[in-house]
Amino acid sequence: MKHTLIGKFVPTMMMHRLLMPLLFVQPVPSGFKRRVAHAVTALSFCAFVAGAALSSASAQTLRPEASSTPAAASSPSAGSAQAQQFTLANGMTLIVKPDHRAPTVAHMLWLRVGSMDEVDGTSGVAHALEHMMFKGTPTLKPGEFSRRVAALGGRDNAFTSRDATAYHQQIPANRLEDVMQLEADRFANTQWENDEFKREIEVVKEERRMRTEDSPRAQLYEAANAVTFIAAPYRRPIIGWMSDLDAMTPDDVRNFYRKWYVPSNAAVVVAGDVDVLQVKALAEKYYGAIPASATPLRKPRVEPVQAGVKRLEHKASASQAYVSLMFKVPQLDPSALANAPAGTSLPNESQDALALTVLAAVLDGYSGARLDRALTQGEARVADSAGADNGLLGRGPQVFTLDGVPAKDKTAQQVIDALRQQVTQIARDGVNAAELNRVKTQWVASEIYKLDAIFSQARELGSNWLNGLPLDSSARLVAHLRNISPAEVQSVAARYFGDDQMTQAVLVPQPLDPNRKPRIPAVGDLH
Ligand SMILES: [Zn+2]
Repeated sequence: MKHTLIGKFVPTMMMHRLLMPLLFVQPVPSGFKRRVAHAVTALSFCAFVAGAALSSASAQTLRPEASSTPAAASSPSAGSAQAQQFTLANGMTLIVKPDHRAPTVAHMLWLRVGSMDEVDGTSGVAHALEHMMFKGTPTLKPGEFSRRVAALGGRDNAFTSRDATAYHQQIPANRLEDVMQLEADRFANTQWENDEFKREIEVVKEERRMRTEDSPRAQLYEAANAVTFIAAPYRRPIIGWMSDLDAMTPDDVRNFYRKWYVPSNAAVVVAGDVDVLQVKALAEKYYGAIPASATPLRKPRVEPVQAGVKRLEHKASASQAYVSLMFKVPQLDPSALANAPAGTSLPNESQDALALTVLAAVLDGYSGARLDRALTQGEARVADSAGADNGLLGRGPQVFTLDGVPAKDKTAQQVIDALRQQVTQIARDGVNAAELNRVKTQWVASEIYKLDAIFSQARELGSNWLNGLPLDSSARLVAHLRNISPAEVQSVAARYFGDDQMTQAVLVPQPLDPNRKPRIPAVGDLH
C-alpha cells in the first residue's frame, strides 16, 4: 500500500501491501532522479510524463484490434515481439506481449474504475474493494489467493489509483494457466462474509491513519486537492474520507463490485515468455466464460474553469514547511495522439500538454536540472528540495505541480517565489537546445531500460489501454516529444503559470508532539 508520488509527496495510488514487492524495485540509472523513480515505483498516471508509459525503440507495438487472428508480428528485437490486442466475445480486452528472455510472466488484470468513479458518501470504496478481492470466492478461503500464488512460485499485489484498479502477479511462465484460473475466478466470483469486511475496513482505516493522518505532506495534498477541484471527482482522496470509511457497509462494496467489475470494463495484460495464441486460448477459456454485462454509464463531472488564485494553509506537526503550487493545464487527447501522422504536431491543447511535459523535465528531469541548480545548491540556497511535474494525461483533469521544502531559515514564500521565477525565466529567455536534447536523450534511454522488466511492459500496456491509447502510443509519444521545440516550451511557460489557474498550498509546521508514539505498521501486509 505504498503510495506513488507525483511531486515528491503526492499520494496518487494505494498499493495493496505495505512493503513494495521486489518486482517494483529496479535499479535506476544514475542521473535519473524522481521522474524515473516514479516509473519504477508504480504506475502513477503522472509518471507517464517521465516516460513510465513511453516506449522504447526495441518495442514497437501494433494493434490487431478485435481480431481473432493476430496480425503477423514483425521481427522481434531483444527477445521480444510486438504486443497484440484482442477483444473476447464478452467484451473483455486481452493484450499479450511476448518476451522470451527469461522463463517468467507478468499477469495483470486492469479495471477501468478507480476512486474517480466513486460518489460522495462512499469515498474510498474502490480501494476497500481492492482489499476485499483478497477475501475469497466460493472455492477460495480468505487470503488463499495470495498463498496459492506464492505456492506457484510467484508473488502478487494490487493497487488502486484515481483512474484504475489493477491486480498483478509475476510467476514462472509454466504457471500462467493456474494464475489465470485464479484471477478469473476472483474477478467473477468474489464473495465474503460481513464479518470479513468489518475486520478489513479497520485495516483500511489504519492505512489511512498511517498514510495520511501521520503525514503532514499527505494532509496538505489531500486538502489542496479538495480545494483545486470542485466538480471533478479527483477532489476526493483515494483512500476515502474517514467518516465515509466509518460509515461504509459491506453492501456498498458489493454494489461497487457488481457495477464496475464487468468484462467490458476490464483488460488482461500478459507479458513475458508466452505464446500469443496459447494465451489467447487460455483467456477465452477462463475470462471468456464470464458473462457479458454493460459498462455503466459515466457522468462527465467536468471541472469548471478556475477564475482566480486559490490559496490555502494547512497546519500540522512537522519539522519543515512545504509548498505545493498546482496549475490547471491542458492534457493530451488520446485520439489526437492516435491519429496524428508521424512528424506532425498534435492539435493545440495536446501539443501544449507535450510541451508542458518537456518543461517539467527541463526544470526537474535530471540531477542538476534548473530547479536543483537554482534552488537547492550554493550558499544562498532557498530550498532543501524542489520539484516539477506535469500530469500529461489521465481520465480526469491534470495539473502541473511545482513543489519545494524551504531550507533552514528560509520561508515558504521565498520558495514559492523562486519556483515561479524559474518558470518566468523560461517564459522570458527560453530554453537552449542542449538542455532539451539532454532531456530527450534521457527519455529514450529510460524507455529502453524500463523494458528490461516484463512487469513494466505489462504496466505500460495496461496504462495505455486505460487511457484509451492504442498499443503503439508509447513510441508515438516519444516521437512527438522529441519534436517539441524550444519555442514551444517557452510558449507554454508564458501561458499557463498565471495566478488565475493556480492553487497555492502551504504546510505551516507546528511543534512536534513530544509524547506522540510512532504507529507500528503490521508486518509486511496490512490485511
Ligand atoms: Zn490499501
